[in-house]
Amino acid sequence: MPGFELFGPSERKEVNDVLDNGILMRYGFDAMRNGHWKAKALETELQNEFKVKHAQLVSSGTAAVSVALAIAGVGAGDEVILPTFTFVASFEAVLMLGAIPVLVDIDDTLTLDVQAVKQAITSKTKAIMPVHMCGSMADLAGLKALCNSHNIKLIEDACQAIGGTYKGEFLGSYGDIGCFSFDFVKTITAGEGGAIITNNDEYATWADQFSDHGHDHVGSDRGAESHPYLGYNFRISELHAAVGLAQLRRLKDFIALQKKHYTIIKEALKAIPEIVFRTVPDGGEENYSFLSFFLPDLNTANKAMLKFKEVGIDGCFHYYNNNWHYVRRWEHLKEAKSLYPIAPHIKEALAELKTKEFKQSDHFIGRNISCLIKLSWSEAETKQRAAKMVEAIKSVL
Ligand SMILES: *Cc1c(COP(=O)(O)O)cnc(C)c1O
Repeated sequence: MPGFELFGPSERKEVNDVLDNGILMRYGFDAMRNGHWKAKALETELQNEFKVKHAQLVSSGTAAVSVALAIAGVGAGDEVILPTFTFVASFEAVLMLGAIPVLVDIDDTLTLDVQAVKQAITSKTKAIMPVHMCGSMADLAGLKALCNSHNIKLIEDACQAIGGTYKGEFLGSYGDIGCFSFDFVKTITAGEGGAIITNNDEYATWADQFSDHGHDHVGSDRGAESHPYLGYNFRISELHAAVGLAQLRRLKDFIALQKKHYTIIKEALKAIPEIVFRTVPDGGEENYSFLSFFLPDLNTANKAMLKFKEVGIDGCFHYYNNNWHYVRRWEHLKEAKSLYPIAPHIKEALAELKTKEFKQSDHFIGRNISCLIKLSWSEAETKQRAAKMVEAIKSVL
């Protein structure tokens, strides 16, 4: 997945444009910037690439999710449904707004289980946030139908799945709002950065304002602008946007390369009858950033990971034992370890979370291994790796 592997002359050129005039801020300084508007250019290219009306760049993927929730009107006491398998940013953003993260089981797609979501909806549910982990998506049509019938917003965290599609639409553009991350290890990187995309004009205006202290961006005197709403600073810098611009132009090539490497490894693993691959919903196409599969049980998955380590196969994750991505190890969340006092309704919800079991999620995550697909491998290296993986897995079955 990481675009940083192929950082090169095109990224350097865009950054040098910015360095040549020294205007590192995305707004204002019109006369001094020699026509370079990297953030604006990247927003326009994101709109064209993903066929949406609006894109708003922000400082990170976490900021993107936070802004998305804020403009969707999610706040104090509202509930947001999230998967148990995600990145910590998902609940961080929800908590920051004073809302309650409601964690829900995943299924064999490794993303939200629509039936479990249905059971978790209450009168307080304001948004459902599927997270397209490891390059693939949930049954988004099923989730959209639930959202429509309950008047709930669908916010896609597509931070790990940029360029993937669902029923002919790009991931991130299917729901009300989509979020991307351009942090250093994502499919395309800006160093740090993120974006939201939407077709909703009002959301676009609010995202533009909210991510810059509520500035309305009307006129050419920043100091004289009015502030229709409260906001924060989630701005991206021109330097970061410049890197992102060069990388977005390479996204199609990156995905083609990922698909090639993914296919070589998947074809090799098909020789092992005990392996079951992750389910990709009807009409979905992954972005091929990871290859995810299930082994027969937790014990075999543990043994396979040890074997991978022993024989030098890196970049594979067994999320069951991972403290970034799976509920089992989020002690800081379950214990509500906050540096500052948190609202009683959130404390209560987290105390309840601590007592919850997620047997269905454990069943899938316990058996799952997801392997990063790298851009920098040669075809020969990829084939060698595939053969080594087959051998390692066979030895523990
Ligand atoms: C990386 C990531 C984020 C957060 O992005 P940052 O840019 O690192 O803040 C959010 N959600 C998912 C699923 C991610 O993988």
